[in-house]
Amino acid sequence: MWAALRGLNGDQLAVIEALSEPVCAVCSRAEGEARRSLEGVLRDGVNDVSLRNDWRRRGGLCARHWRVWRHLESPPLSTAILLEDLLGTYLEGATVPAGPCPACAVVERSEKRALTALRRLPAKHLDAALESGPGLLCLRHLESLPDGEVRQRFRERLEELRAHLREQIRTSDHRFVNERKGPHADAWLRALRVFGGDV
Ligand SMILES: [Zn+2]
Ligand SMILES: [Zn+2]
Repeated sequence: MWAALRGLNGDQLAVIEALSEPVCAVCSRAEGEARRSLEGVLRDGVNDVSLRNDWRRRGGLCARHWRVWRHLESPPLSTAILLEDLLGTYLEGATVPAGPCPACAVVERSEKRALTALRRLPAKHLDAALESGPGLLCLRHLESLPDGEVRQRFRERLEELRAHLREQIRTSDHRFVNERKGPHADAWLRALRVFGGDV
């Protein structure tokens, strides 16, 4: 399979890989990069002066990324160091935070790269990825694609998902208990991601 993908760049390969999972390919790529960037800060970034200045200027993370941070491995000491700094800045009369949170900034950059990669993906590769995997795009990312074949293919994926949701609902009746397994079984979760992104 990988030989057939020769000639694609790293972002395109990553998007194809994401399409093999029942997730929004852009959200999962972008949030994965944000999570890795936070892991990097946790591992060896908390004593980096420019990073500390950047976090202070931005007022730390947003609520969503603090939640991600909390569930990383071993955050107590790094959190204490960073928050002592941020709390001190606040108590000393901080200015209003500027711009997106540091992890949201990673997400924004990564989303742009993933969307460009998708738009430029040759049709045969996109078709093959959609045929072999359940990947999709959330509505926010679908809407940010220009009209064209790529957008059309992801709309068709949503039509398929709608049929799967109907099938999931139909087979919830006890008379159809034997038909509950199948590609429609996780339709509810994929639909949640269509509306909610990386959930
Ligand atoms: Zn998305
Ligand atoms: Zn954020």
